[in-house]
Formats: sequence, C-alpha cells, structure tokens
Amino acid sequence: LEAIDMITPFRSALYMTQAAVVETPDLIVIVDPCWLPDEVASIHQYVAALAADKPRYLLFTHSDFDHIIGYGAFAHESVNASVQACSAVQVISSQRMADKSASEQEAILEQIREFDDRYYIERDYPIMYPSVTIPVAQNGQQLAVGGTTLTFYLAPGHTDDGLMTIVEHICDSSNESIGVLIAGDYLSDVEFPYIYHSSEAYLNTLVQATRILEQHTITMLLPGHGNITCDHVEMRSRISNSEQYIHALRAEAAQNMNTANNEQWEEFLVNSRFPRHMRHYHEENQSLVAREQHPSRS
Ligand SMILES: [Zn+2]
Repeated sequence: LEAIDMITPFRSALYMTQAAVVETPDLIVIVDPCWLPDEVASIHQYVAALAADKPRYLLFTHSDFDHIIGYGAFAHESVNASVQACSAVQVISSQRMADKSASEQEAILEQIREFDDRYYIERDYPIMYPSVTIPVAQNGQQLAVGGTTLTFYLAPGHTDDGLMTIVEHICDSSNESIGVLIAGDYLSDVEFPYIYHSSEAYLNTLVQATRILEQHTITMLLPGHGNITCDHVEMRSRISNSEQYIHALRAEAAQNMNTANNEQWEEFLVNSRFPRHMRHYHEENQSLVAREQHPSRS
C-alpha cells in the first residue's frame, strides 16, 4: 500500500476544492465532501460501494460553507447508526467547529442557501450543520484503529476552527509507514493564505505544519484547494511561500504604507492563478491585518 493507493481524490469543478476518501485496511475517512449535487452524489456512491465492515469517519477540516455543503447527504447514515452499526459514520471536527453557536451555524447554512439560490441548485438532501460526534480539543489527539492512526492538530488562522489531520498507516508486511496530511485550507499551491481569523494564528499554524513534516511520516499532502503533492520540497515551499506572504502583509501594515498601487503586490496578483477573483481576497487580507495592528482605527 502506498499513499497514492490510500486516497481517492474528488476534485470539485469549483475553486479546485479537494474532497477525498482515504481508505486503509482499517478504516475509511471521507474528507469535506462537496460542492455540486452530482459531485456529492459521486462521493456518496463511491463510499457506499466500499467494504461495509470498516469504521467510517466523516472529517470536516473547518466550517466554511463550501466544506460542509455536502454533509446532509451523509447525515442519515449517522442517524441510522443503531440500525446499521457497520455503516455508521462518526463525524470529526475541531471542538471549536462543533461548538459554533446556533446563530453562527445559521449564518453558515445561509451562505449555502444563498449559493444554491444564486445558481438554481436543487439538492436531494437537507442542508444541515454537521452534528459532530468526535470533537478534537487537544493538539496531538489521536484515534487509532488497527494499524491506522489519525493524529489531529488544531489549525486556527484561516478560520478559528481549522483542523489538520494526519492519517498514518503502518504496513503489516513491510513495516513501512505512510501518511497523508489533510491540511484543510492551508498549504495550497493555488491560493495564497486567505486570512479570515488571525494572521498570528495563521503563522503559528504554519510553524506547526513544519513540525508535522518533521515528526510524522508524510508521504502526501492534501490541501483544501489546489493540487495534491507527494514532494517534500514542494510541501516546504508551500509553507515558506505562505509565511513570506503573511510577513509581507504584516510589515506593510506596521509601516502603515498606502498600498493601493503597490507595484510588488500588483505583480504578485497578476501572477496569481485567478487574478480577477483573488485580488478581492488579498484586499480583505490587507484590511484584516491593518485592523489587527491598528485596532483603534477600525
Ligand atoms: Zn475552502
């Protein structure tokens, strides 16, 4: 078994969003099933055809609406847990995501309804906020089944409720370890950091990602948007690119520069993958970091 055999990626046509099903001899992990009805249905069909005797986990990397939009298609399986014990699905997220207040949850669900209305999308499952059965509260918390271990790290910064998960499997025959790092909306090769929560927390999460690469056997990185990579040089450069971007944002805000026509940023944005759209996220980042550093002015 190699990392590439362990994972079946389902890339959405939208925003290169990267759902996936990770299967080891011991368990199945369904990651952020999304976006469009046909895409969610194909993930659901794929999972339904897998061995029924393995424990199943539905993993949410964070609560952004695009990542939880498919939950309702899998929710009935957790409700029917007592009837069909073997196909019961446990739902994993950070404690913070599980603890979102009713109004926070409602705001996220409203974004889904808004999206579906805008594109006249009908779904054959209800729009629901994930009902979490395994909330992760501790860094390094683990869940072990047979030769497979899931290790969780809280990953705030993009949002306040991010979770990085490592699925490691030790092969019986070779005794070799393989591991997939499920990063959520970090370490993308397509998006620069989108900072909705805190630039400081984001930087700390990147430091933690470096530590994860050192302390775990990571043979594959699965980002929430963009391309999977098995190359450690690439993984490290994604971390340092993100760090450089955030340091530049923070330096700019600290120096209080007027950046409306900053040439360096212009070049950066023009060379980004989807400049017309990504410009907006960059500008939002600039205002968030400015607010962080000059709270009295907001
Ligand atoms: Zn996302």
